[in-house]
Amino acid sequence: MSANALMIDYEFCTGCHACEVACKKHLEVGEGQYGIHVLQDGPRELPDGKWDYNFLPMPTSLCDMCAGRIAEGKDAACVHHCPAHCMHYGPAEEMAALAAEKTKSAVFVPVA
Ligand code: SF4
Ligand code: SF4
Repeated sequence: MSANALMIDYEFCTGCHACEVACKKHLEVGEGQYGIHVLQDGPRELPDGKWDYNFLPMPTSLCDMCAGRIAEGKDAACVHHCPAHCMHYGPAEEMAALAAEKTKSAVFVPVA
């Protein structure tokens, strides 16, 4: 059976931190601990004069892929609470194929 993965279409991530908060509640972790951590890149001027400014939610080693929620037929907490609908969860091959269609994306596959 294929491993599950998280795909983050970060072109549309607003940096709102809702995924981070939902995950912290799901994992019941305290201050300074994260199952997913929203990182900021930029704003930075590029050589062509355009600006680069990205947010990238990065799953950490505490991420349990919401195994309990998935077993109950629910979405992963981070996916469920993302208002920009830029997080997706599913078989790693499907997430990789989805990512290949995106401009800015990342796929997280945890170590089994
Ligand atoms: S899949 Fe679950 S544990 Fe992993 S980052 Fe998302 S909310 Fe957190
Ligand atoms: S909830 Fe969605 S839009 Fe907000 S920081 Fe997380 S991935 Fe980005």
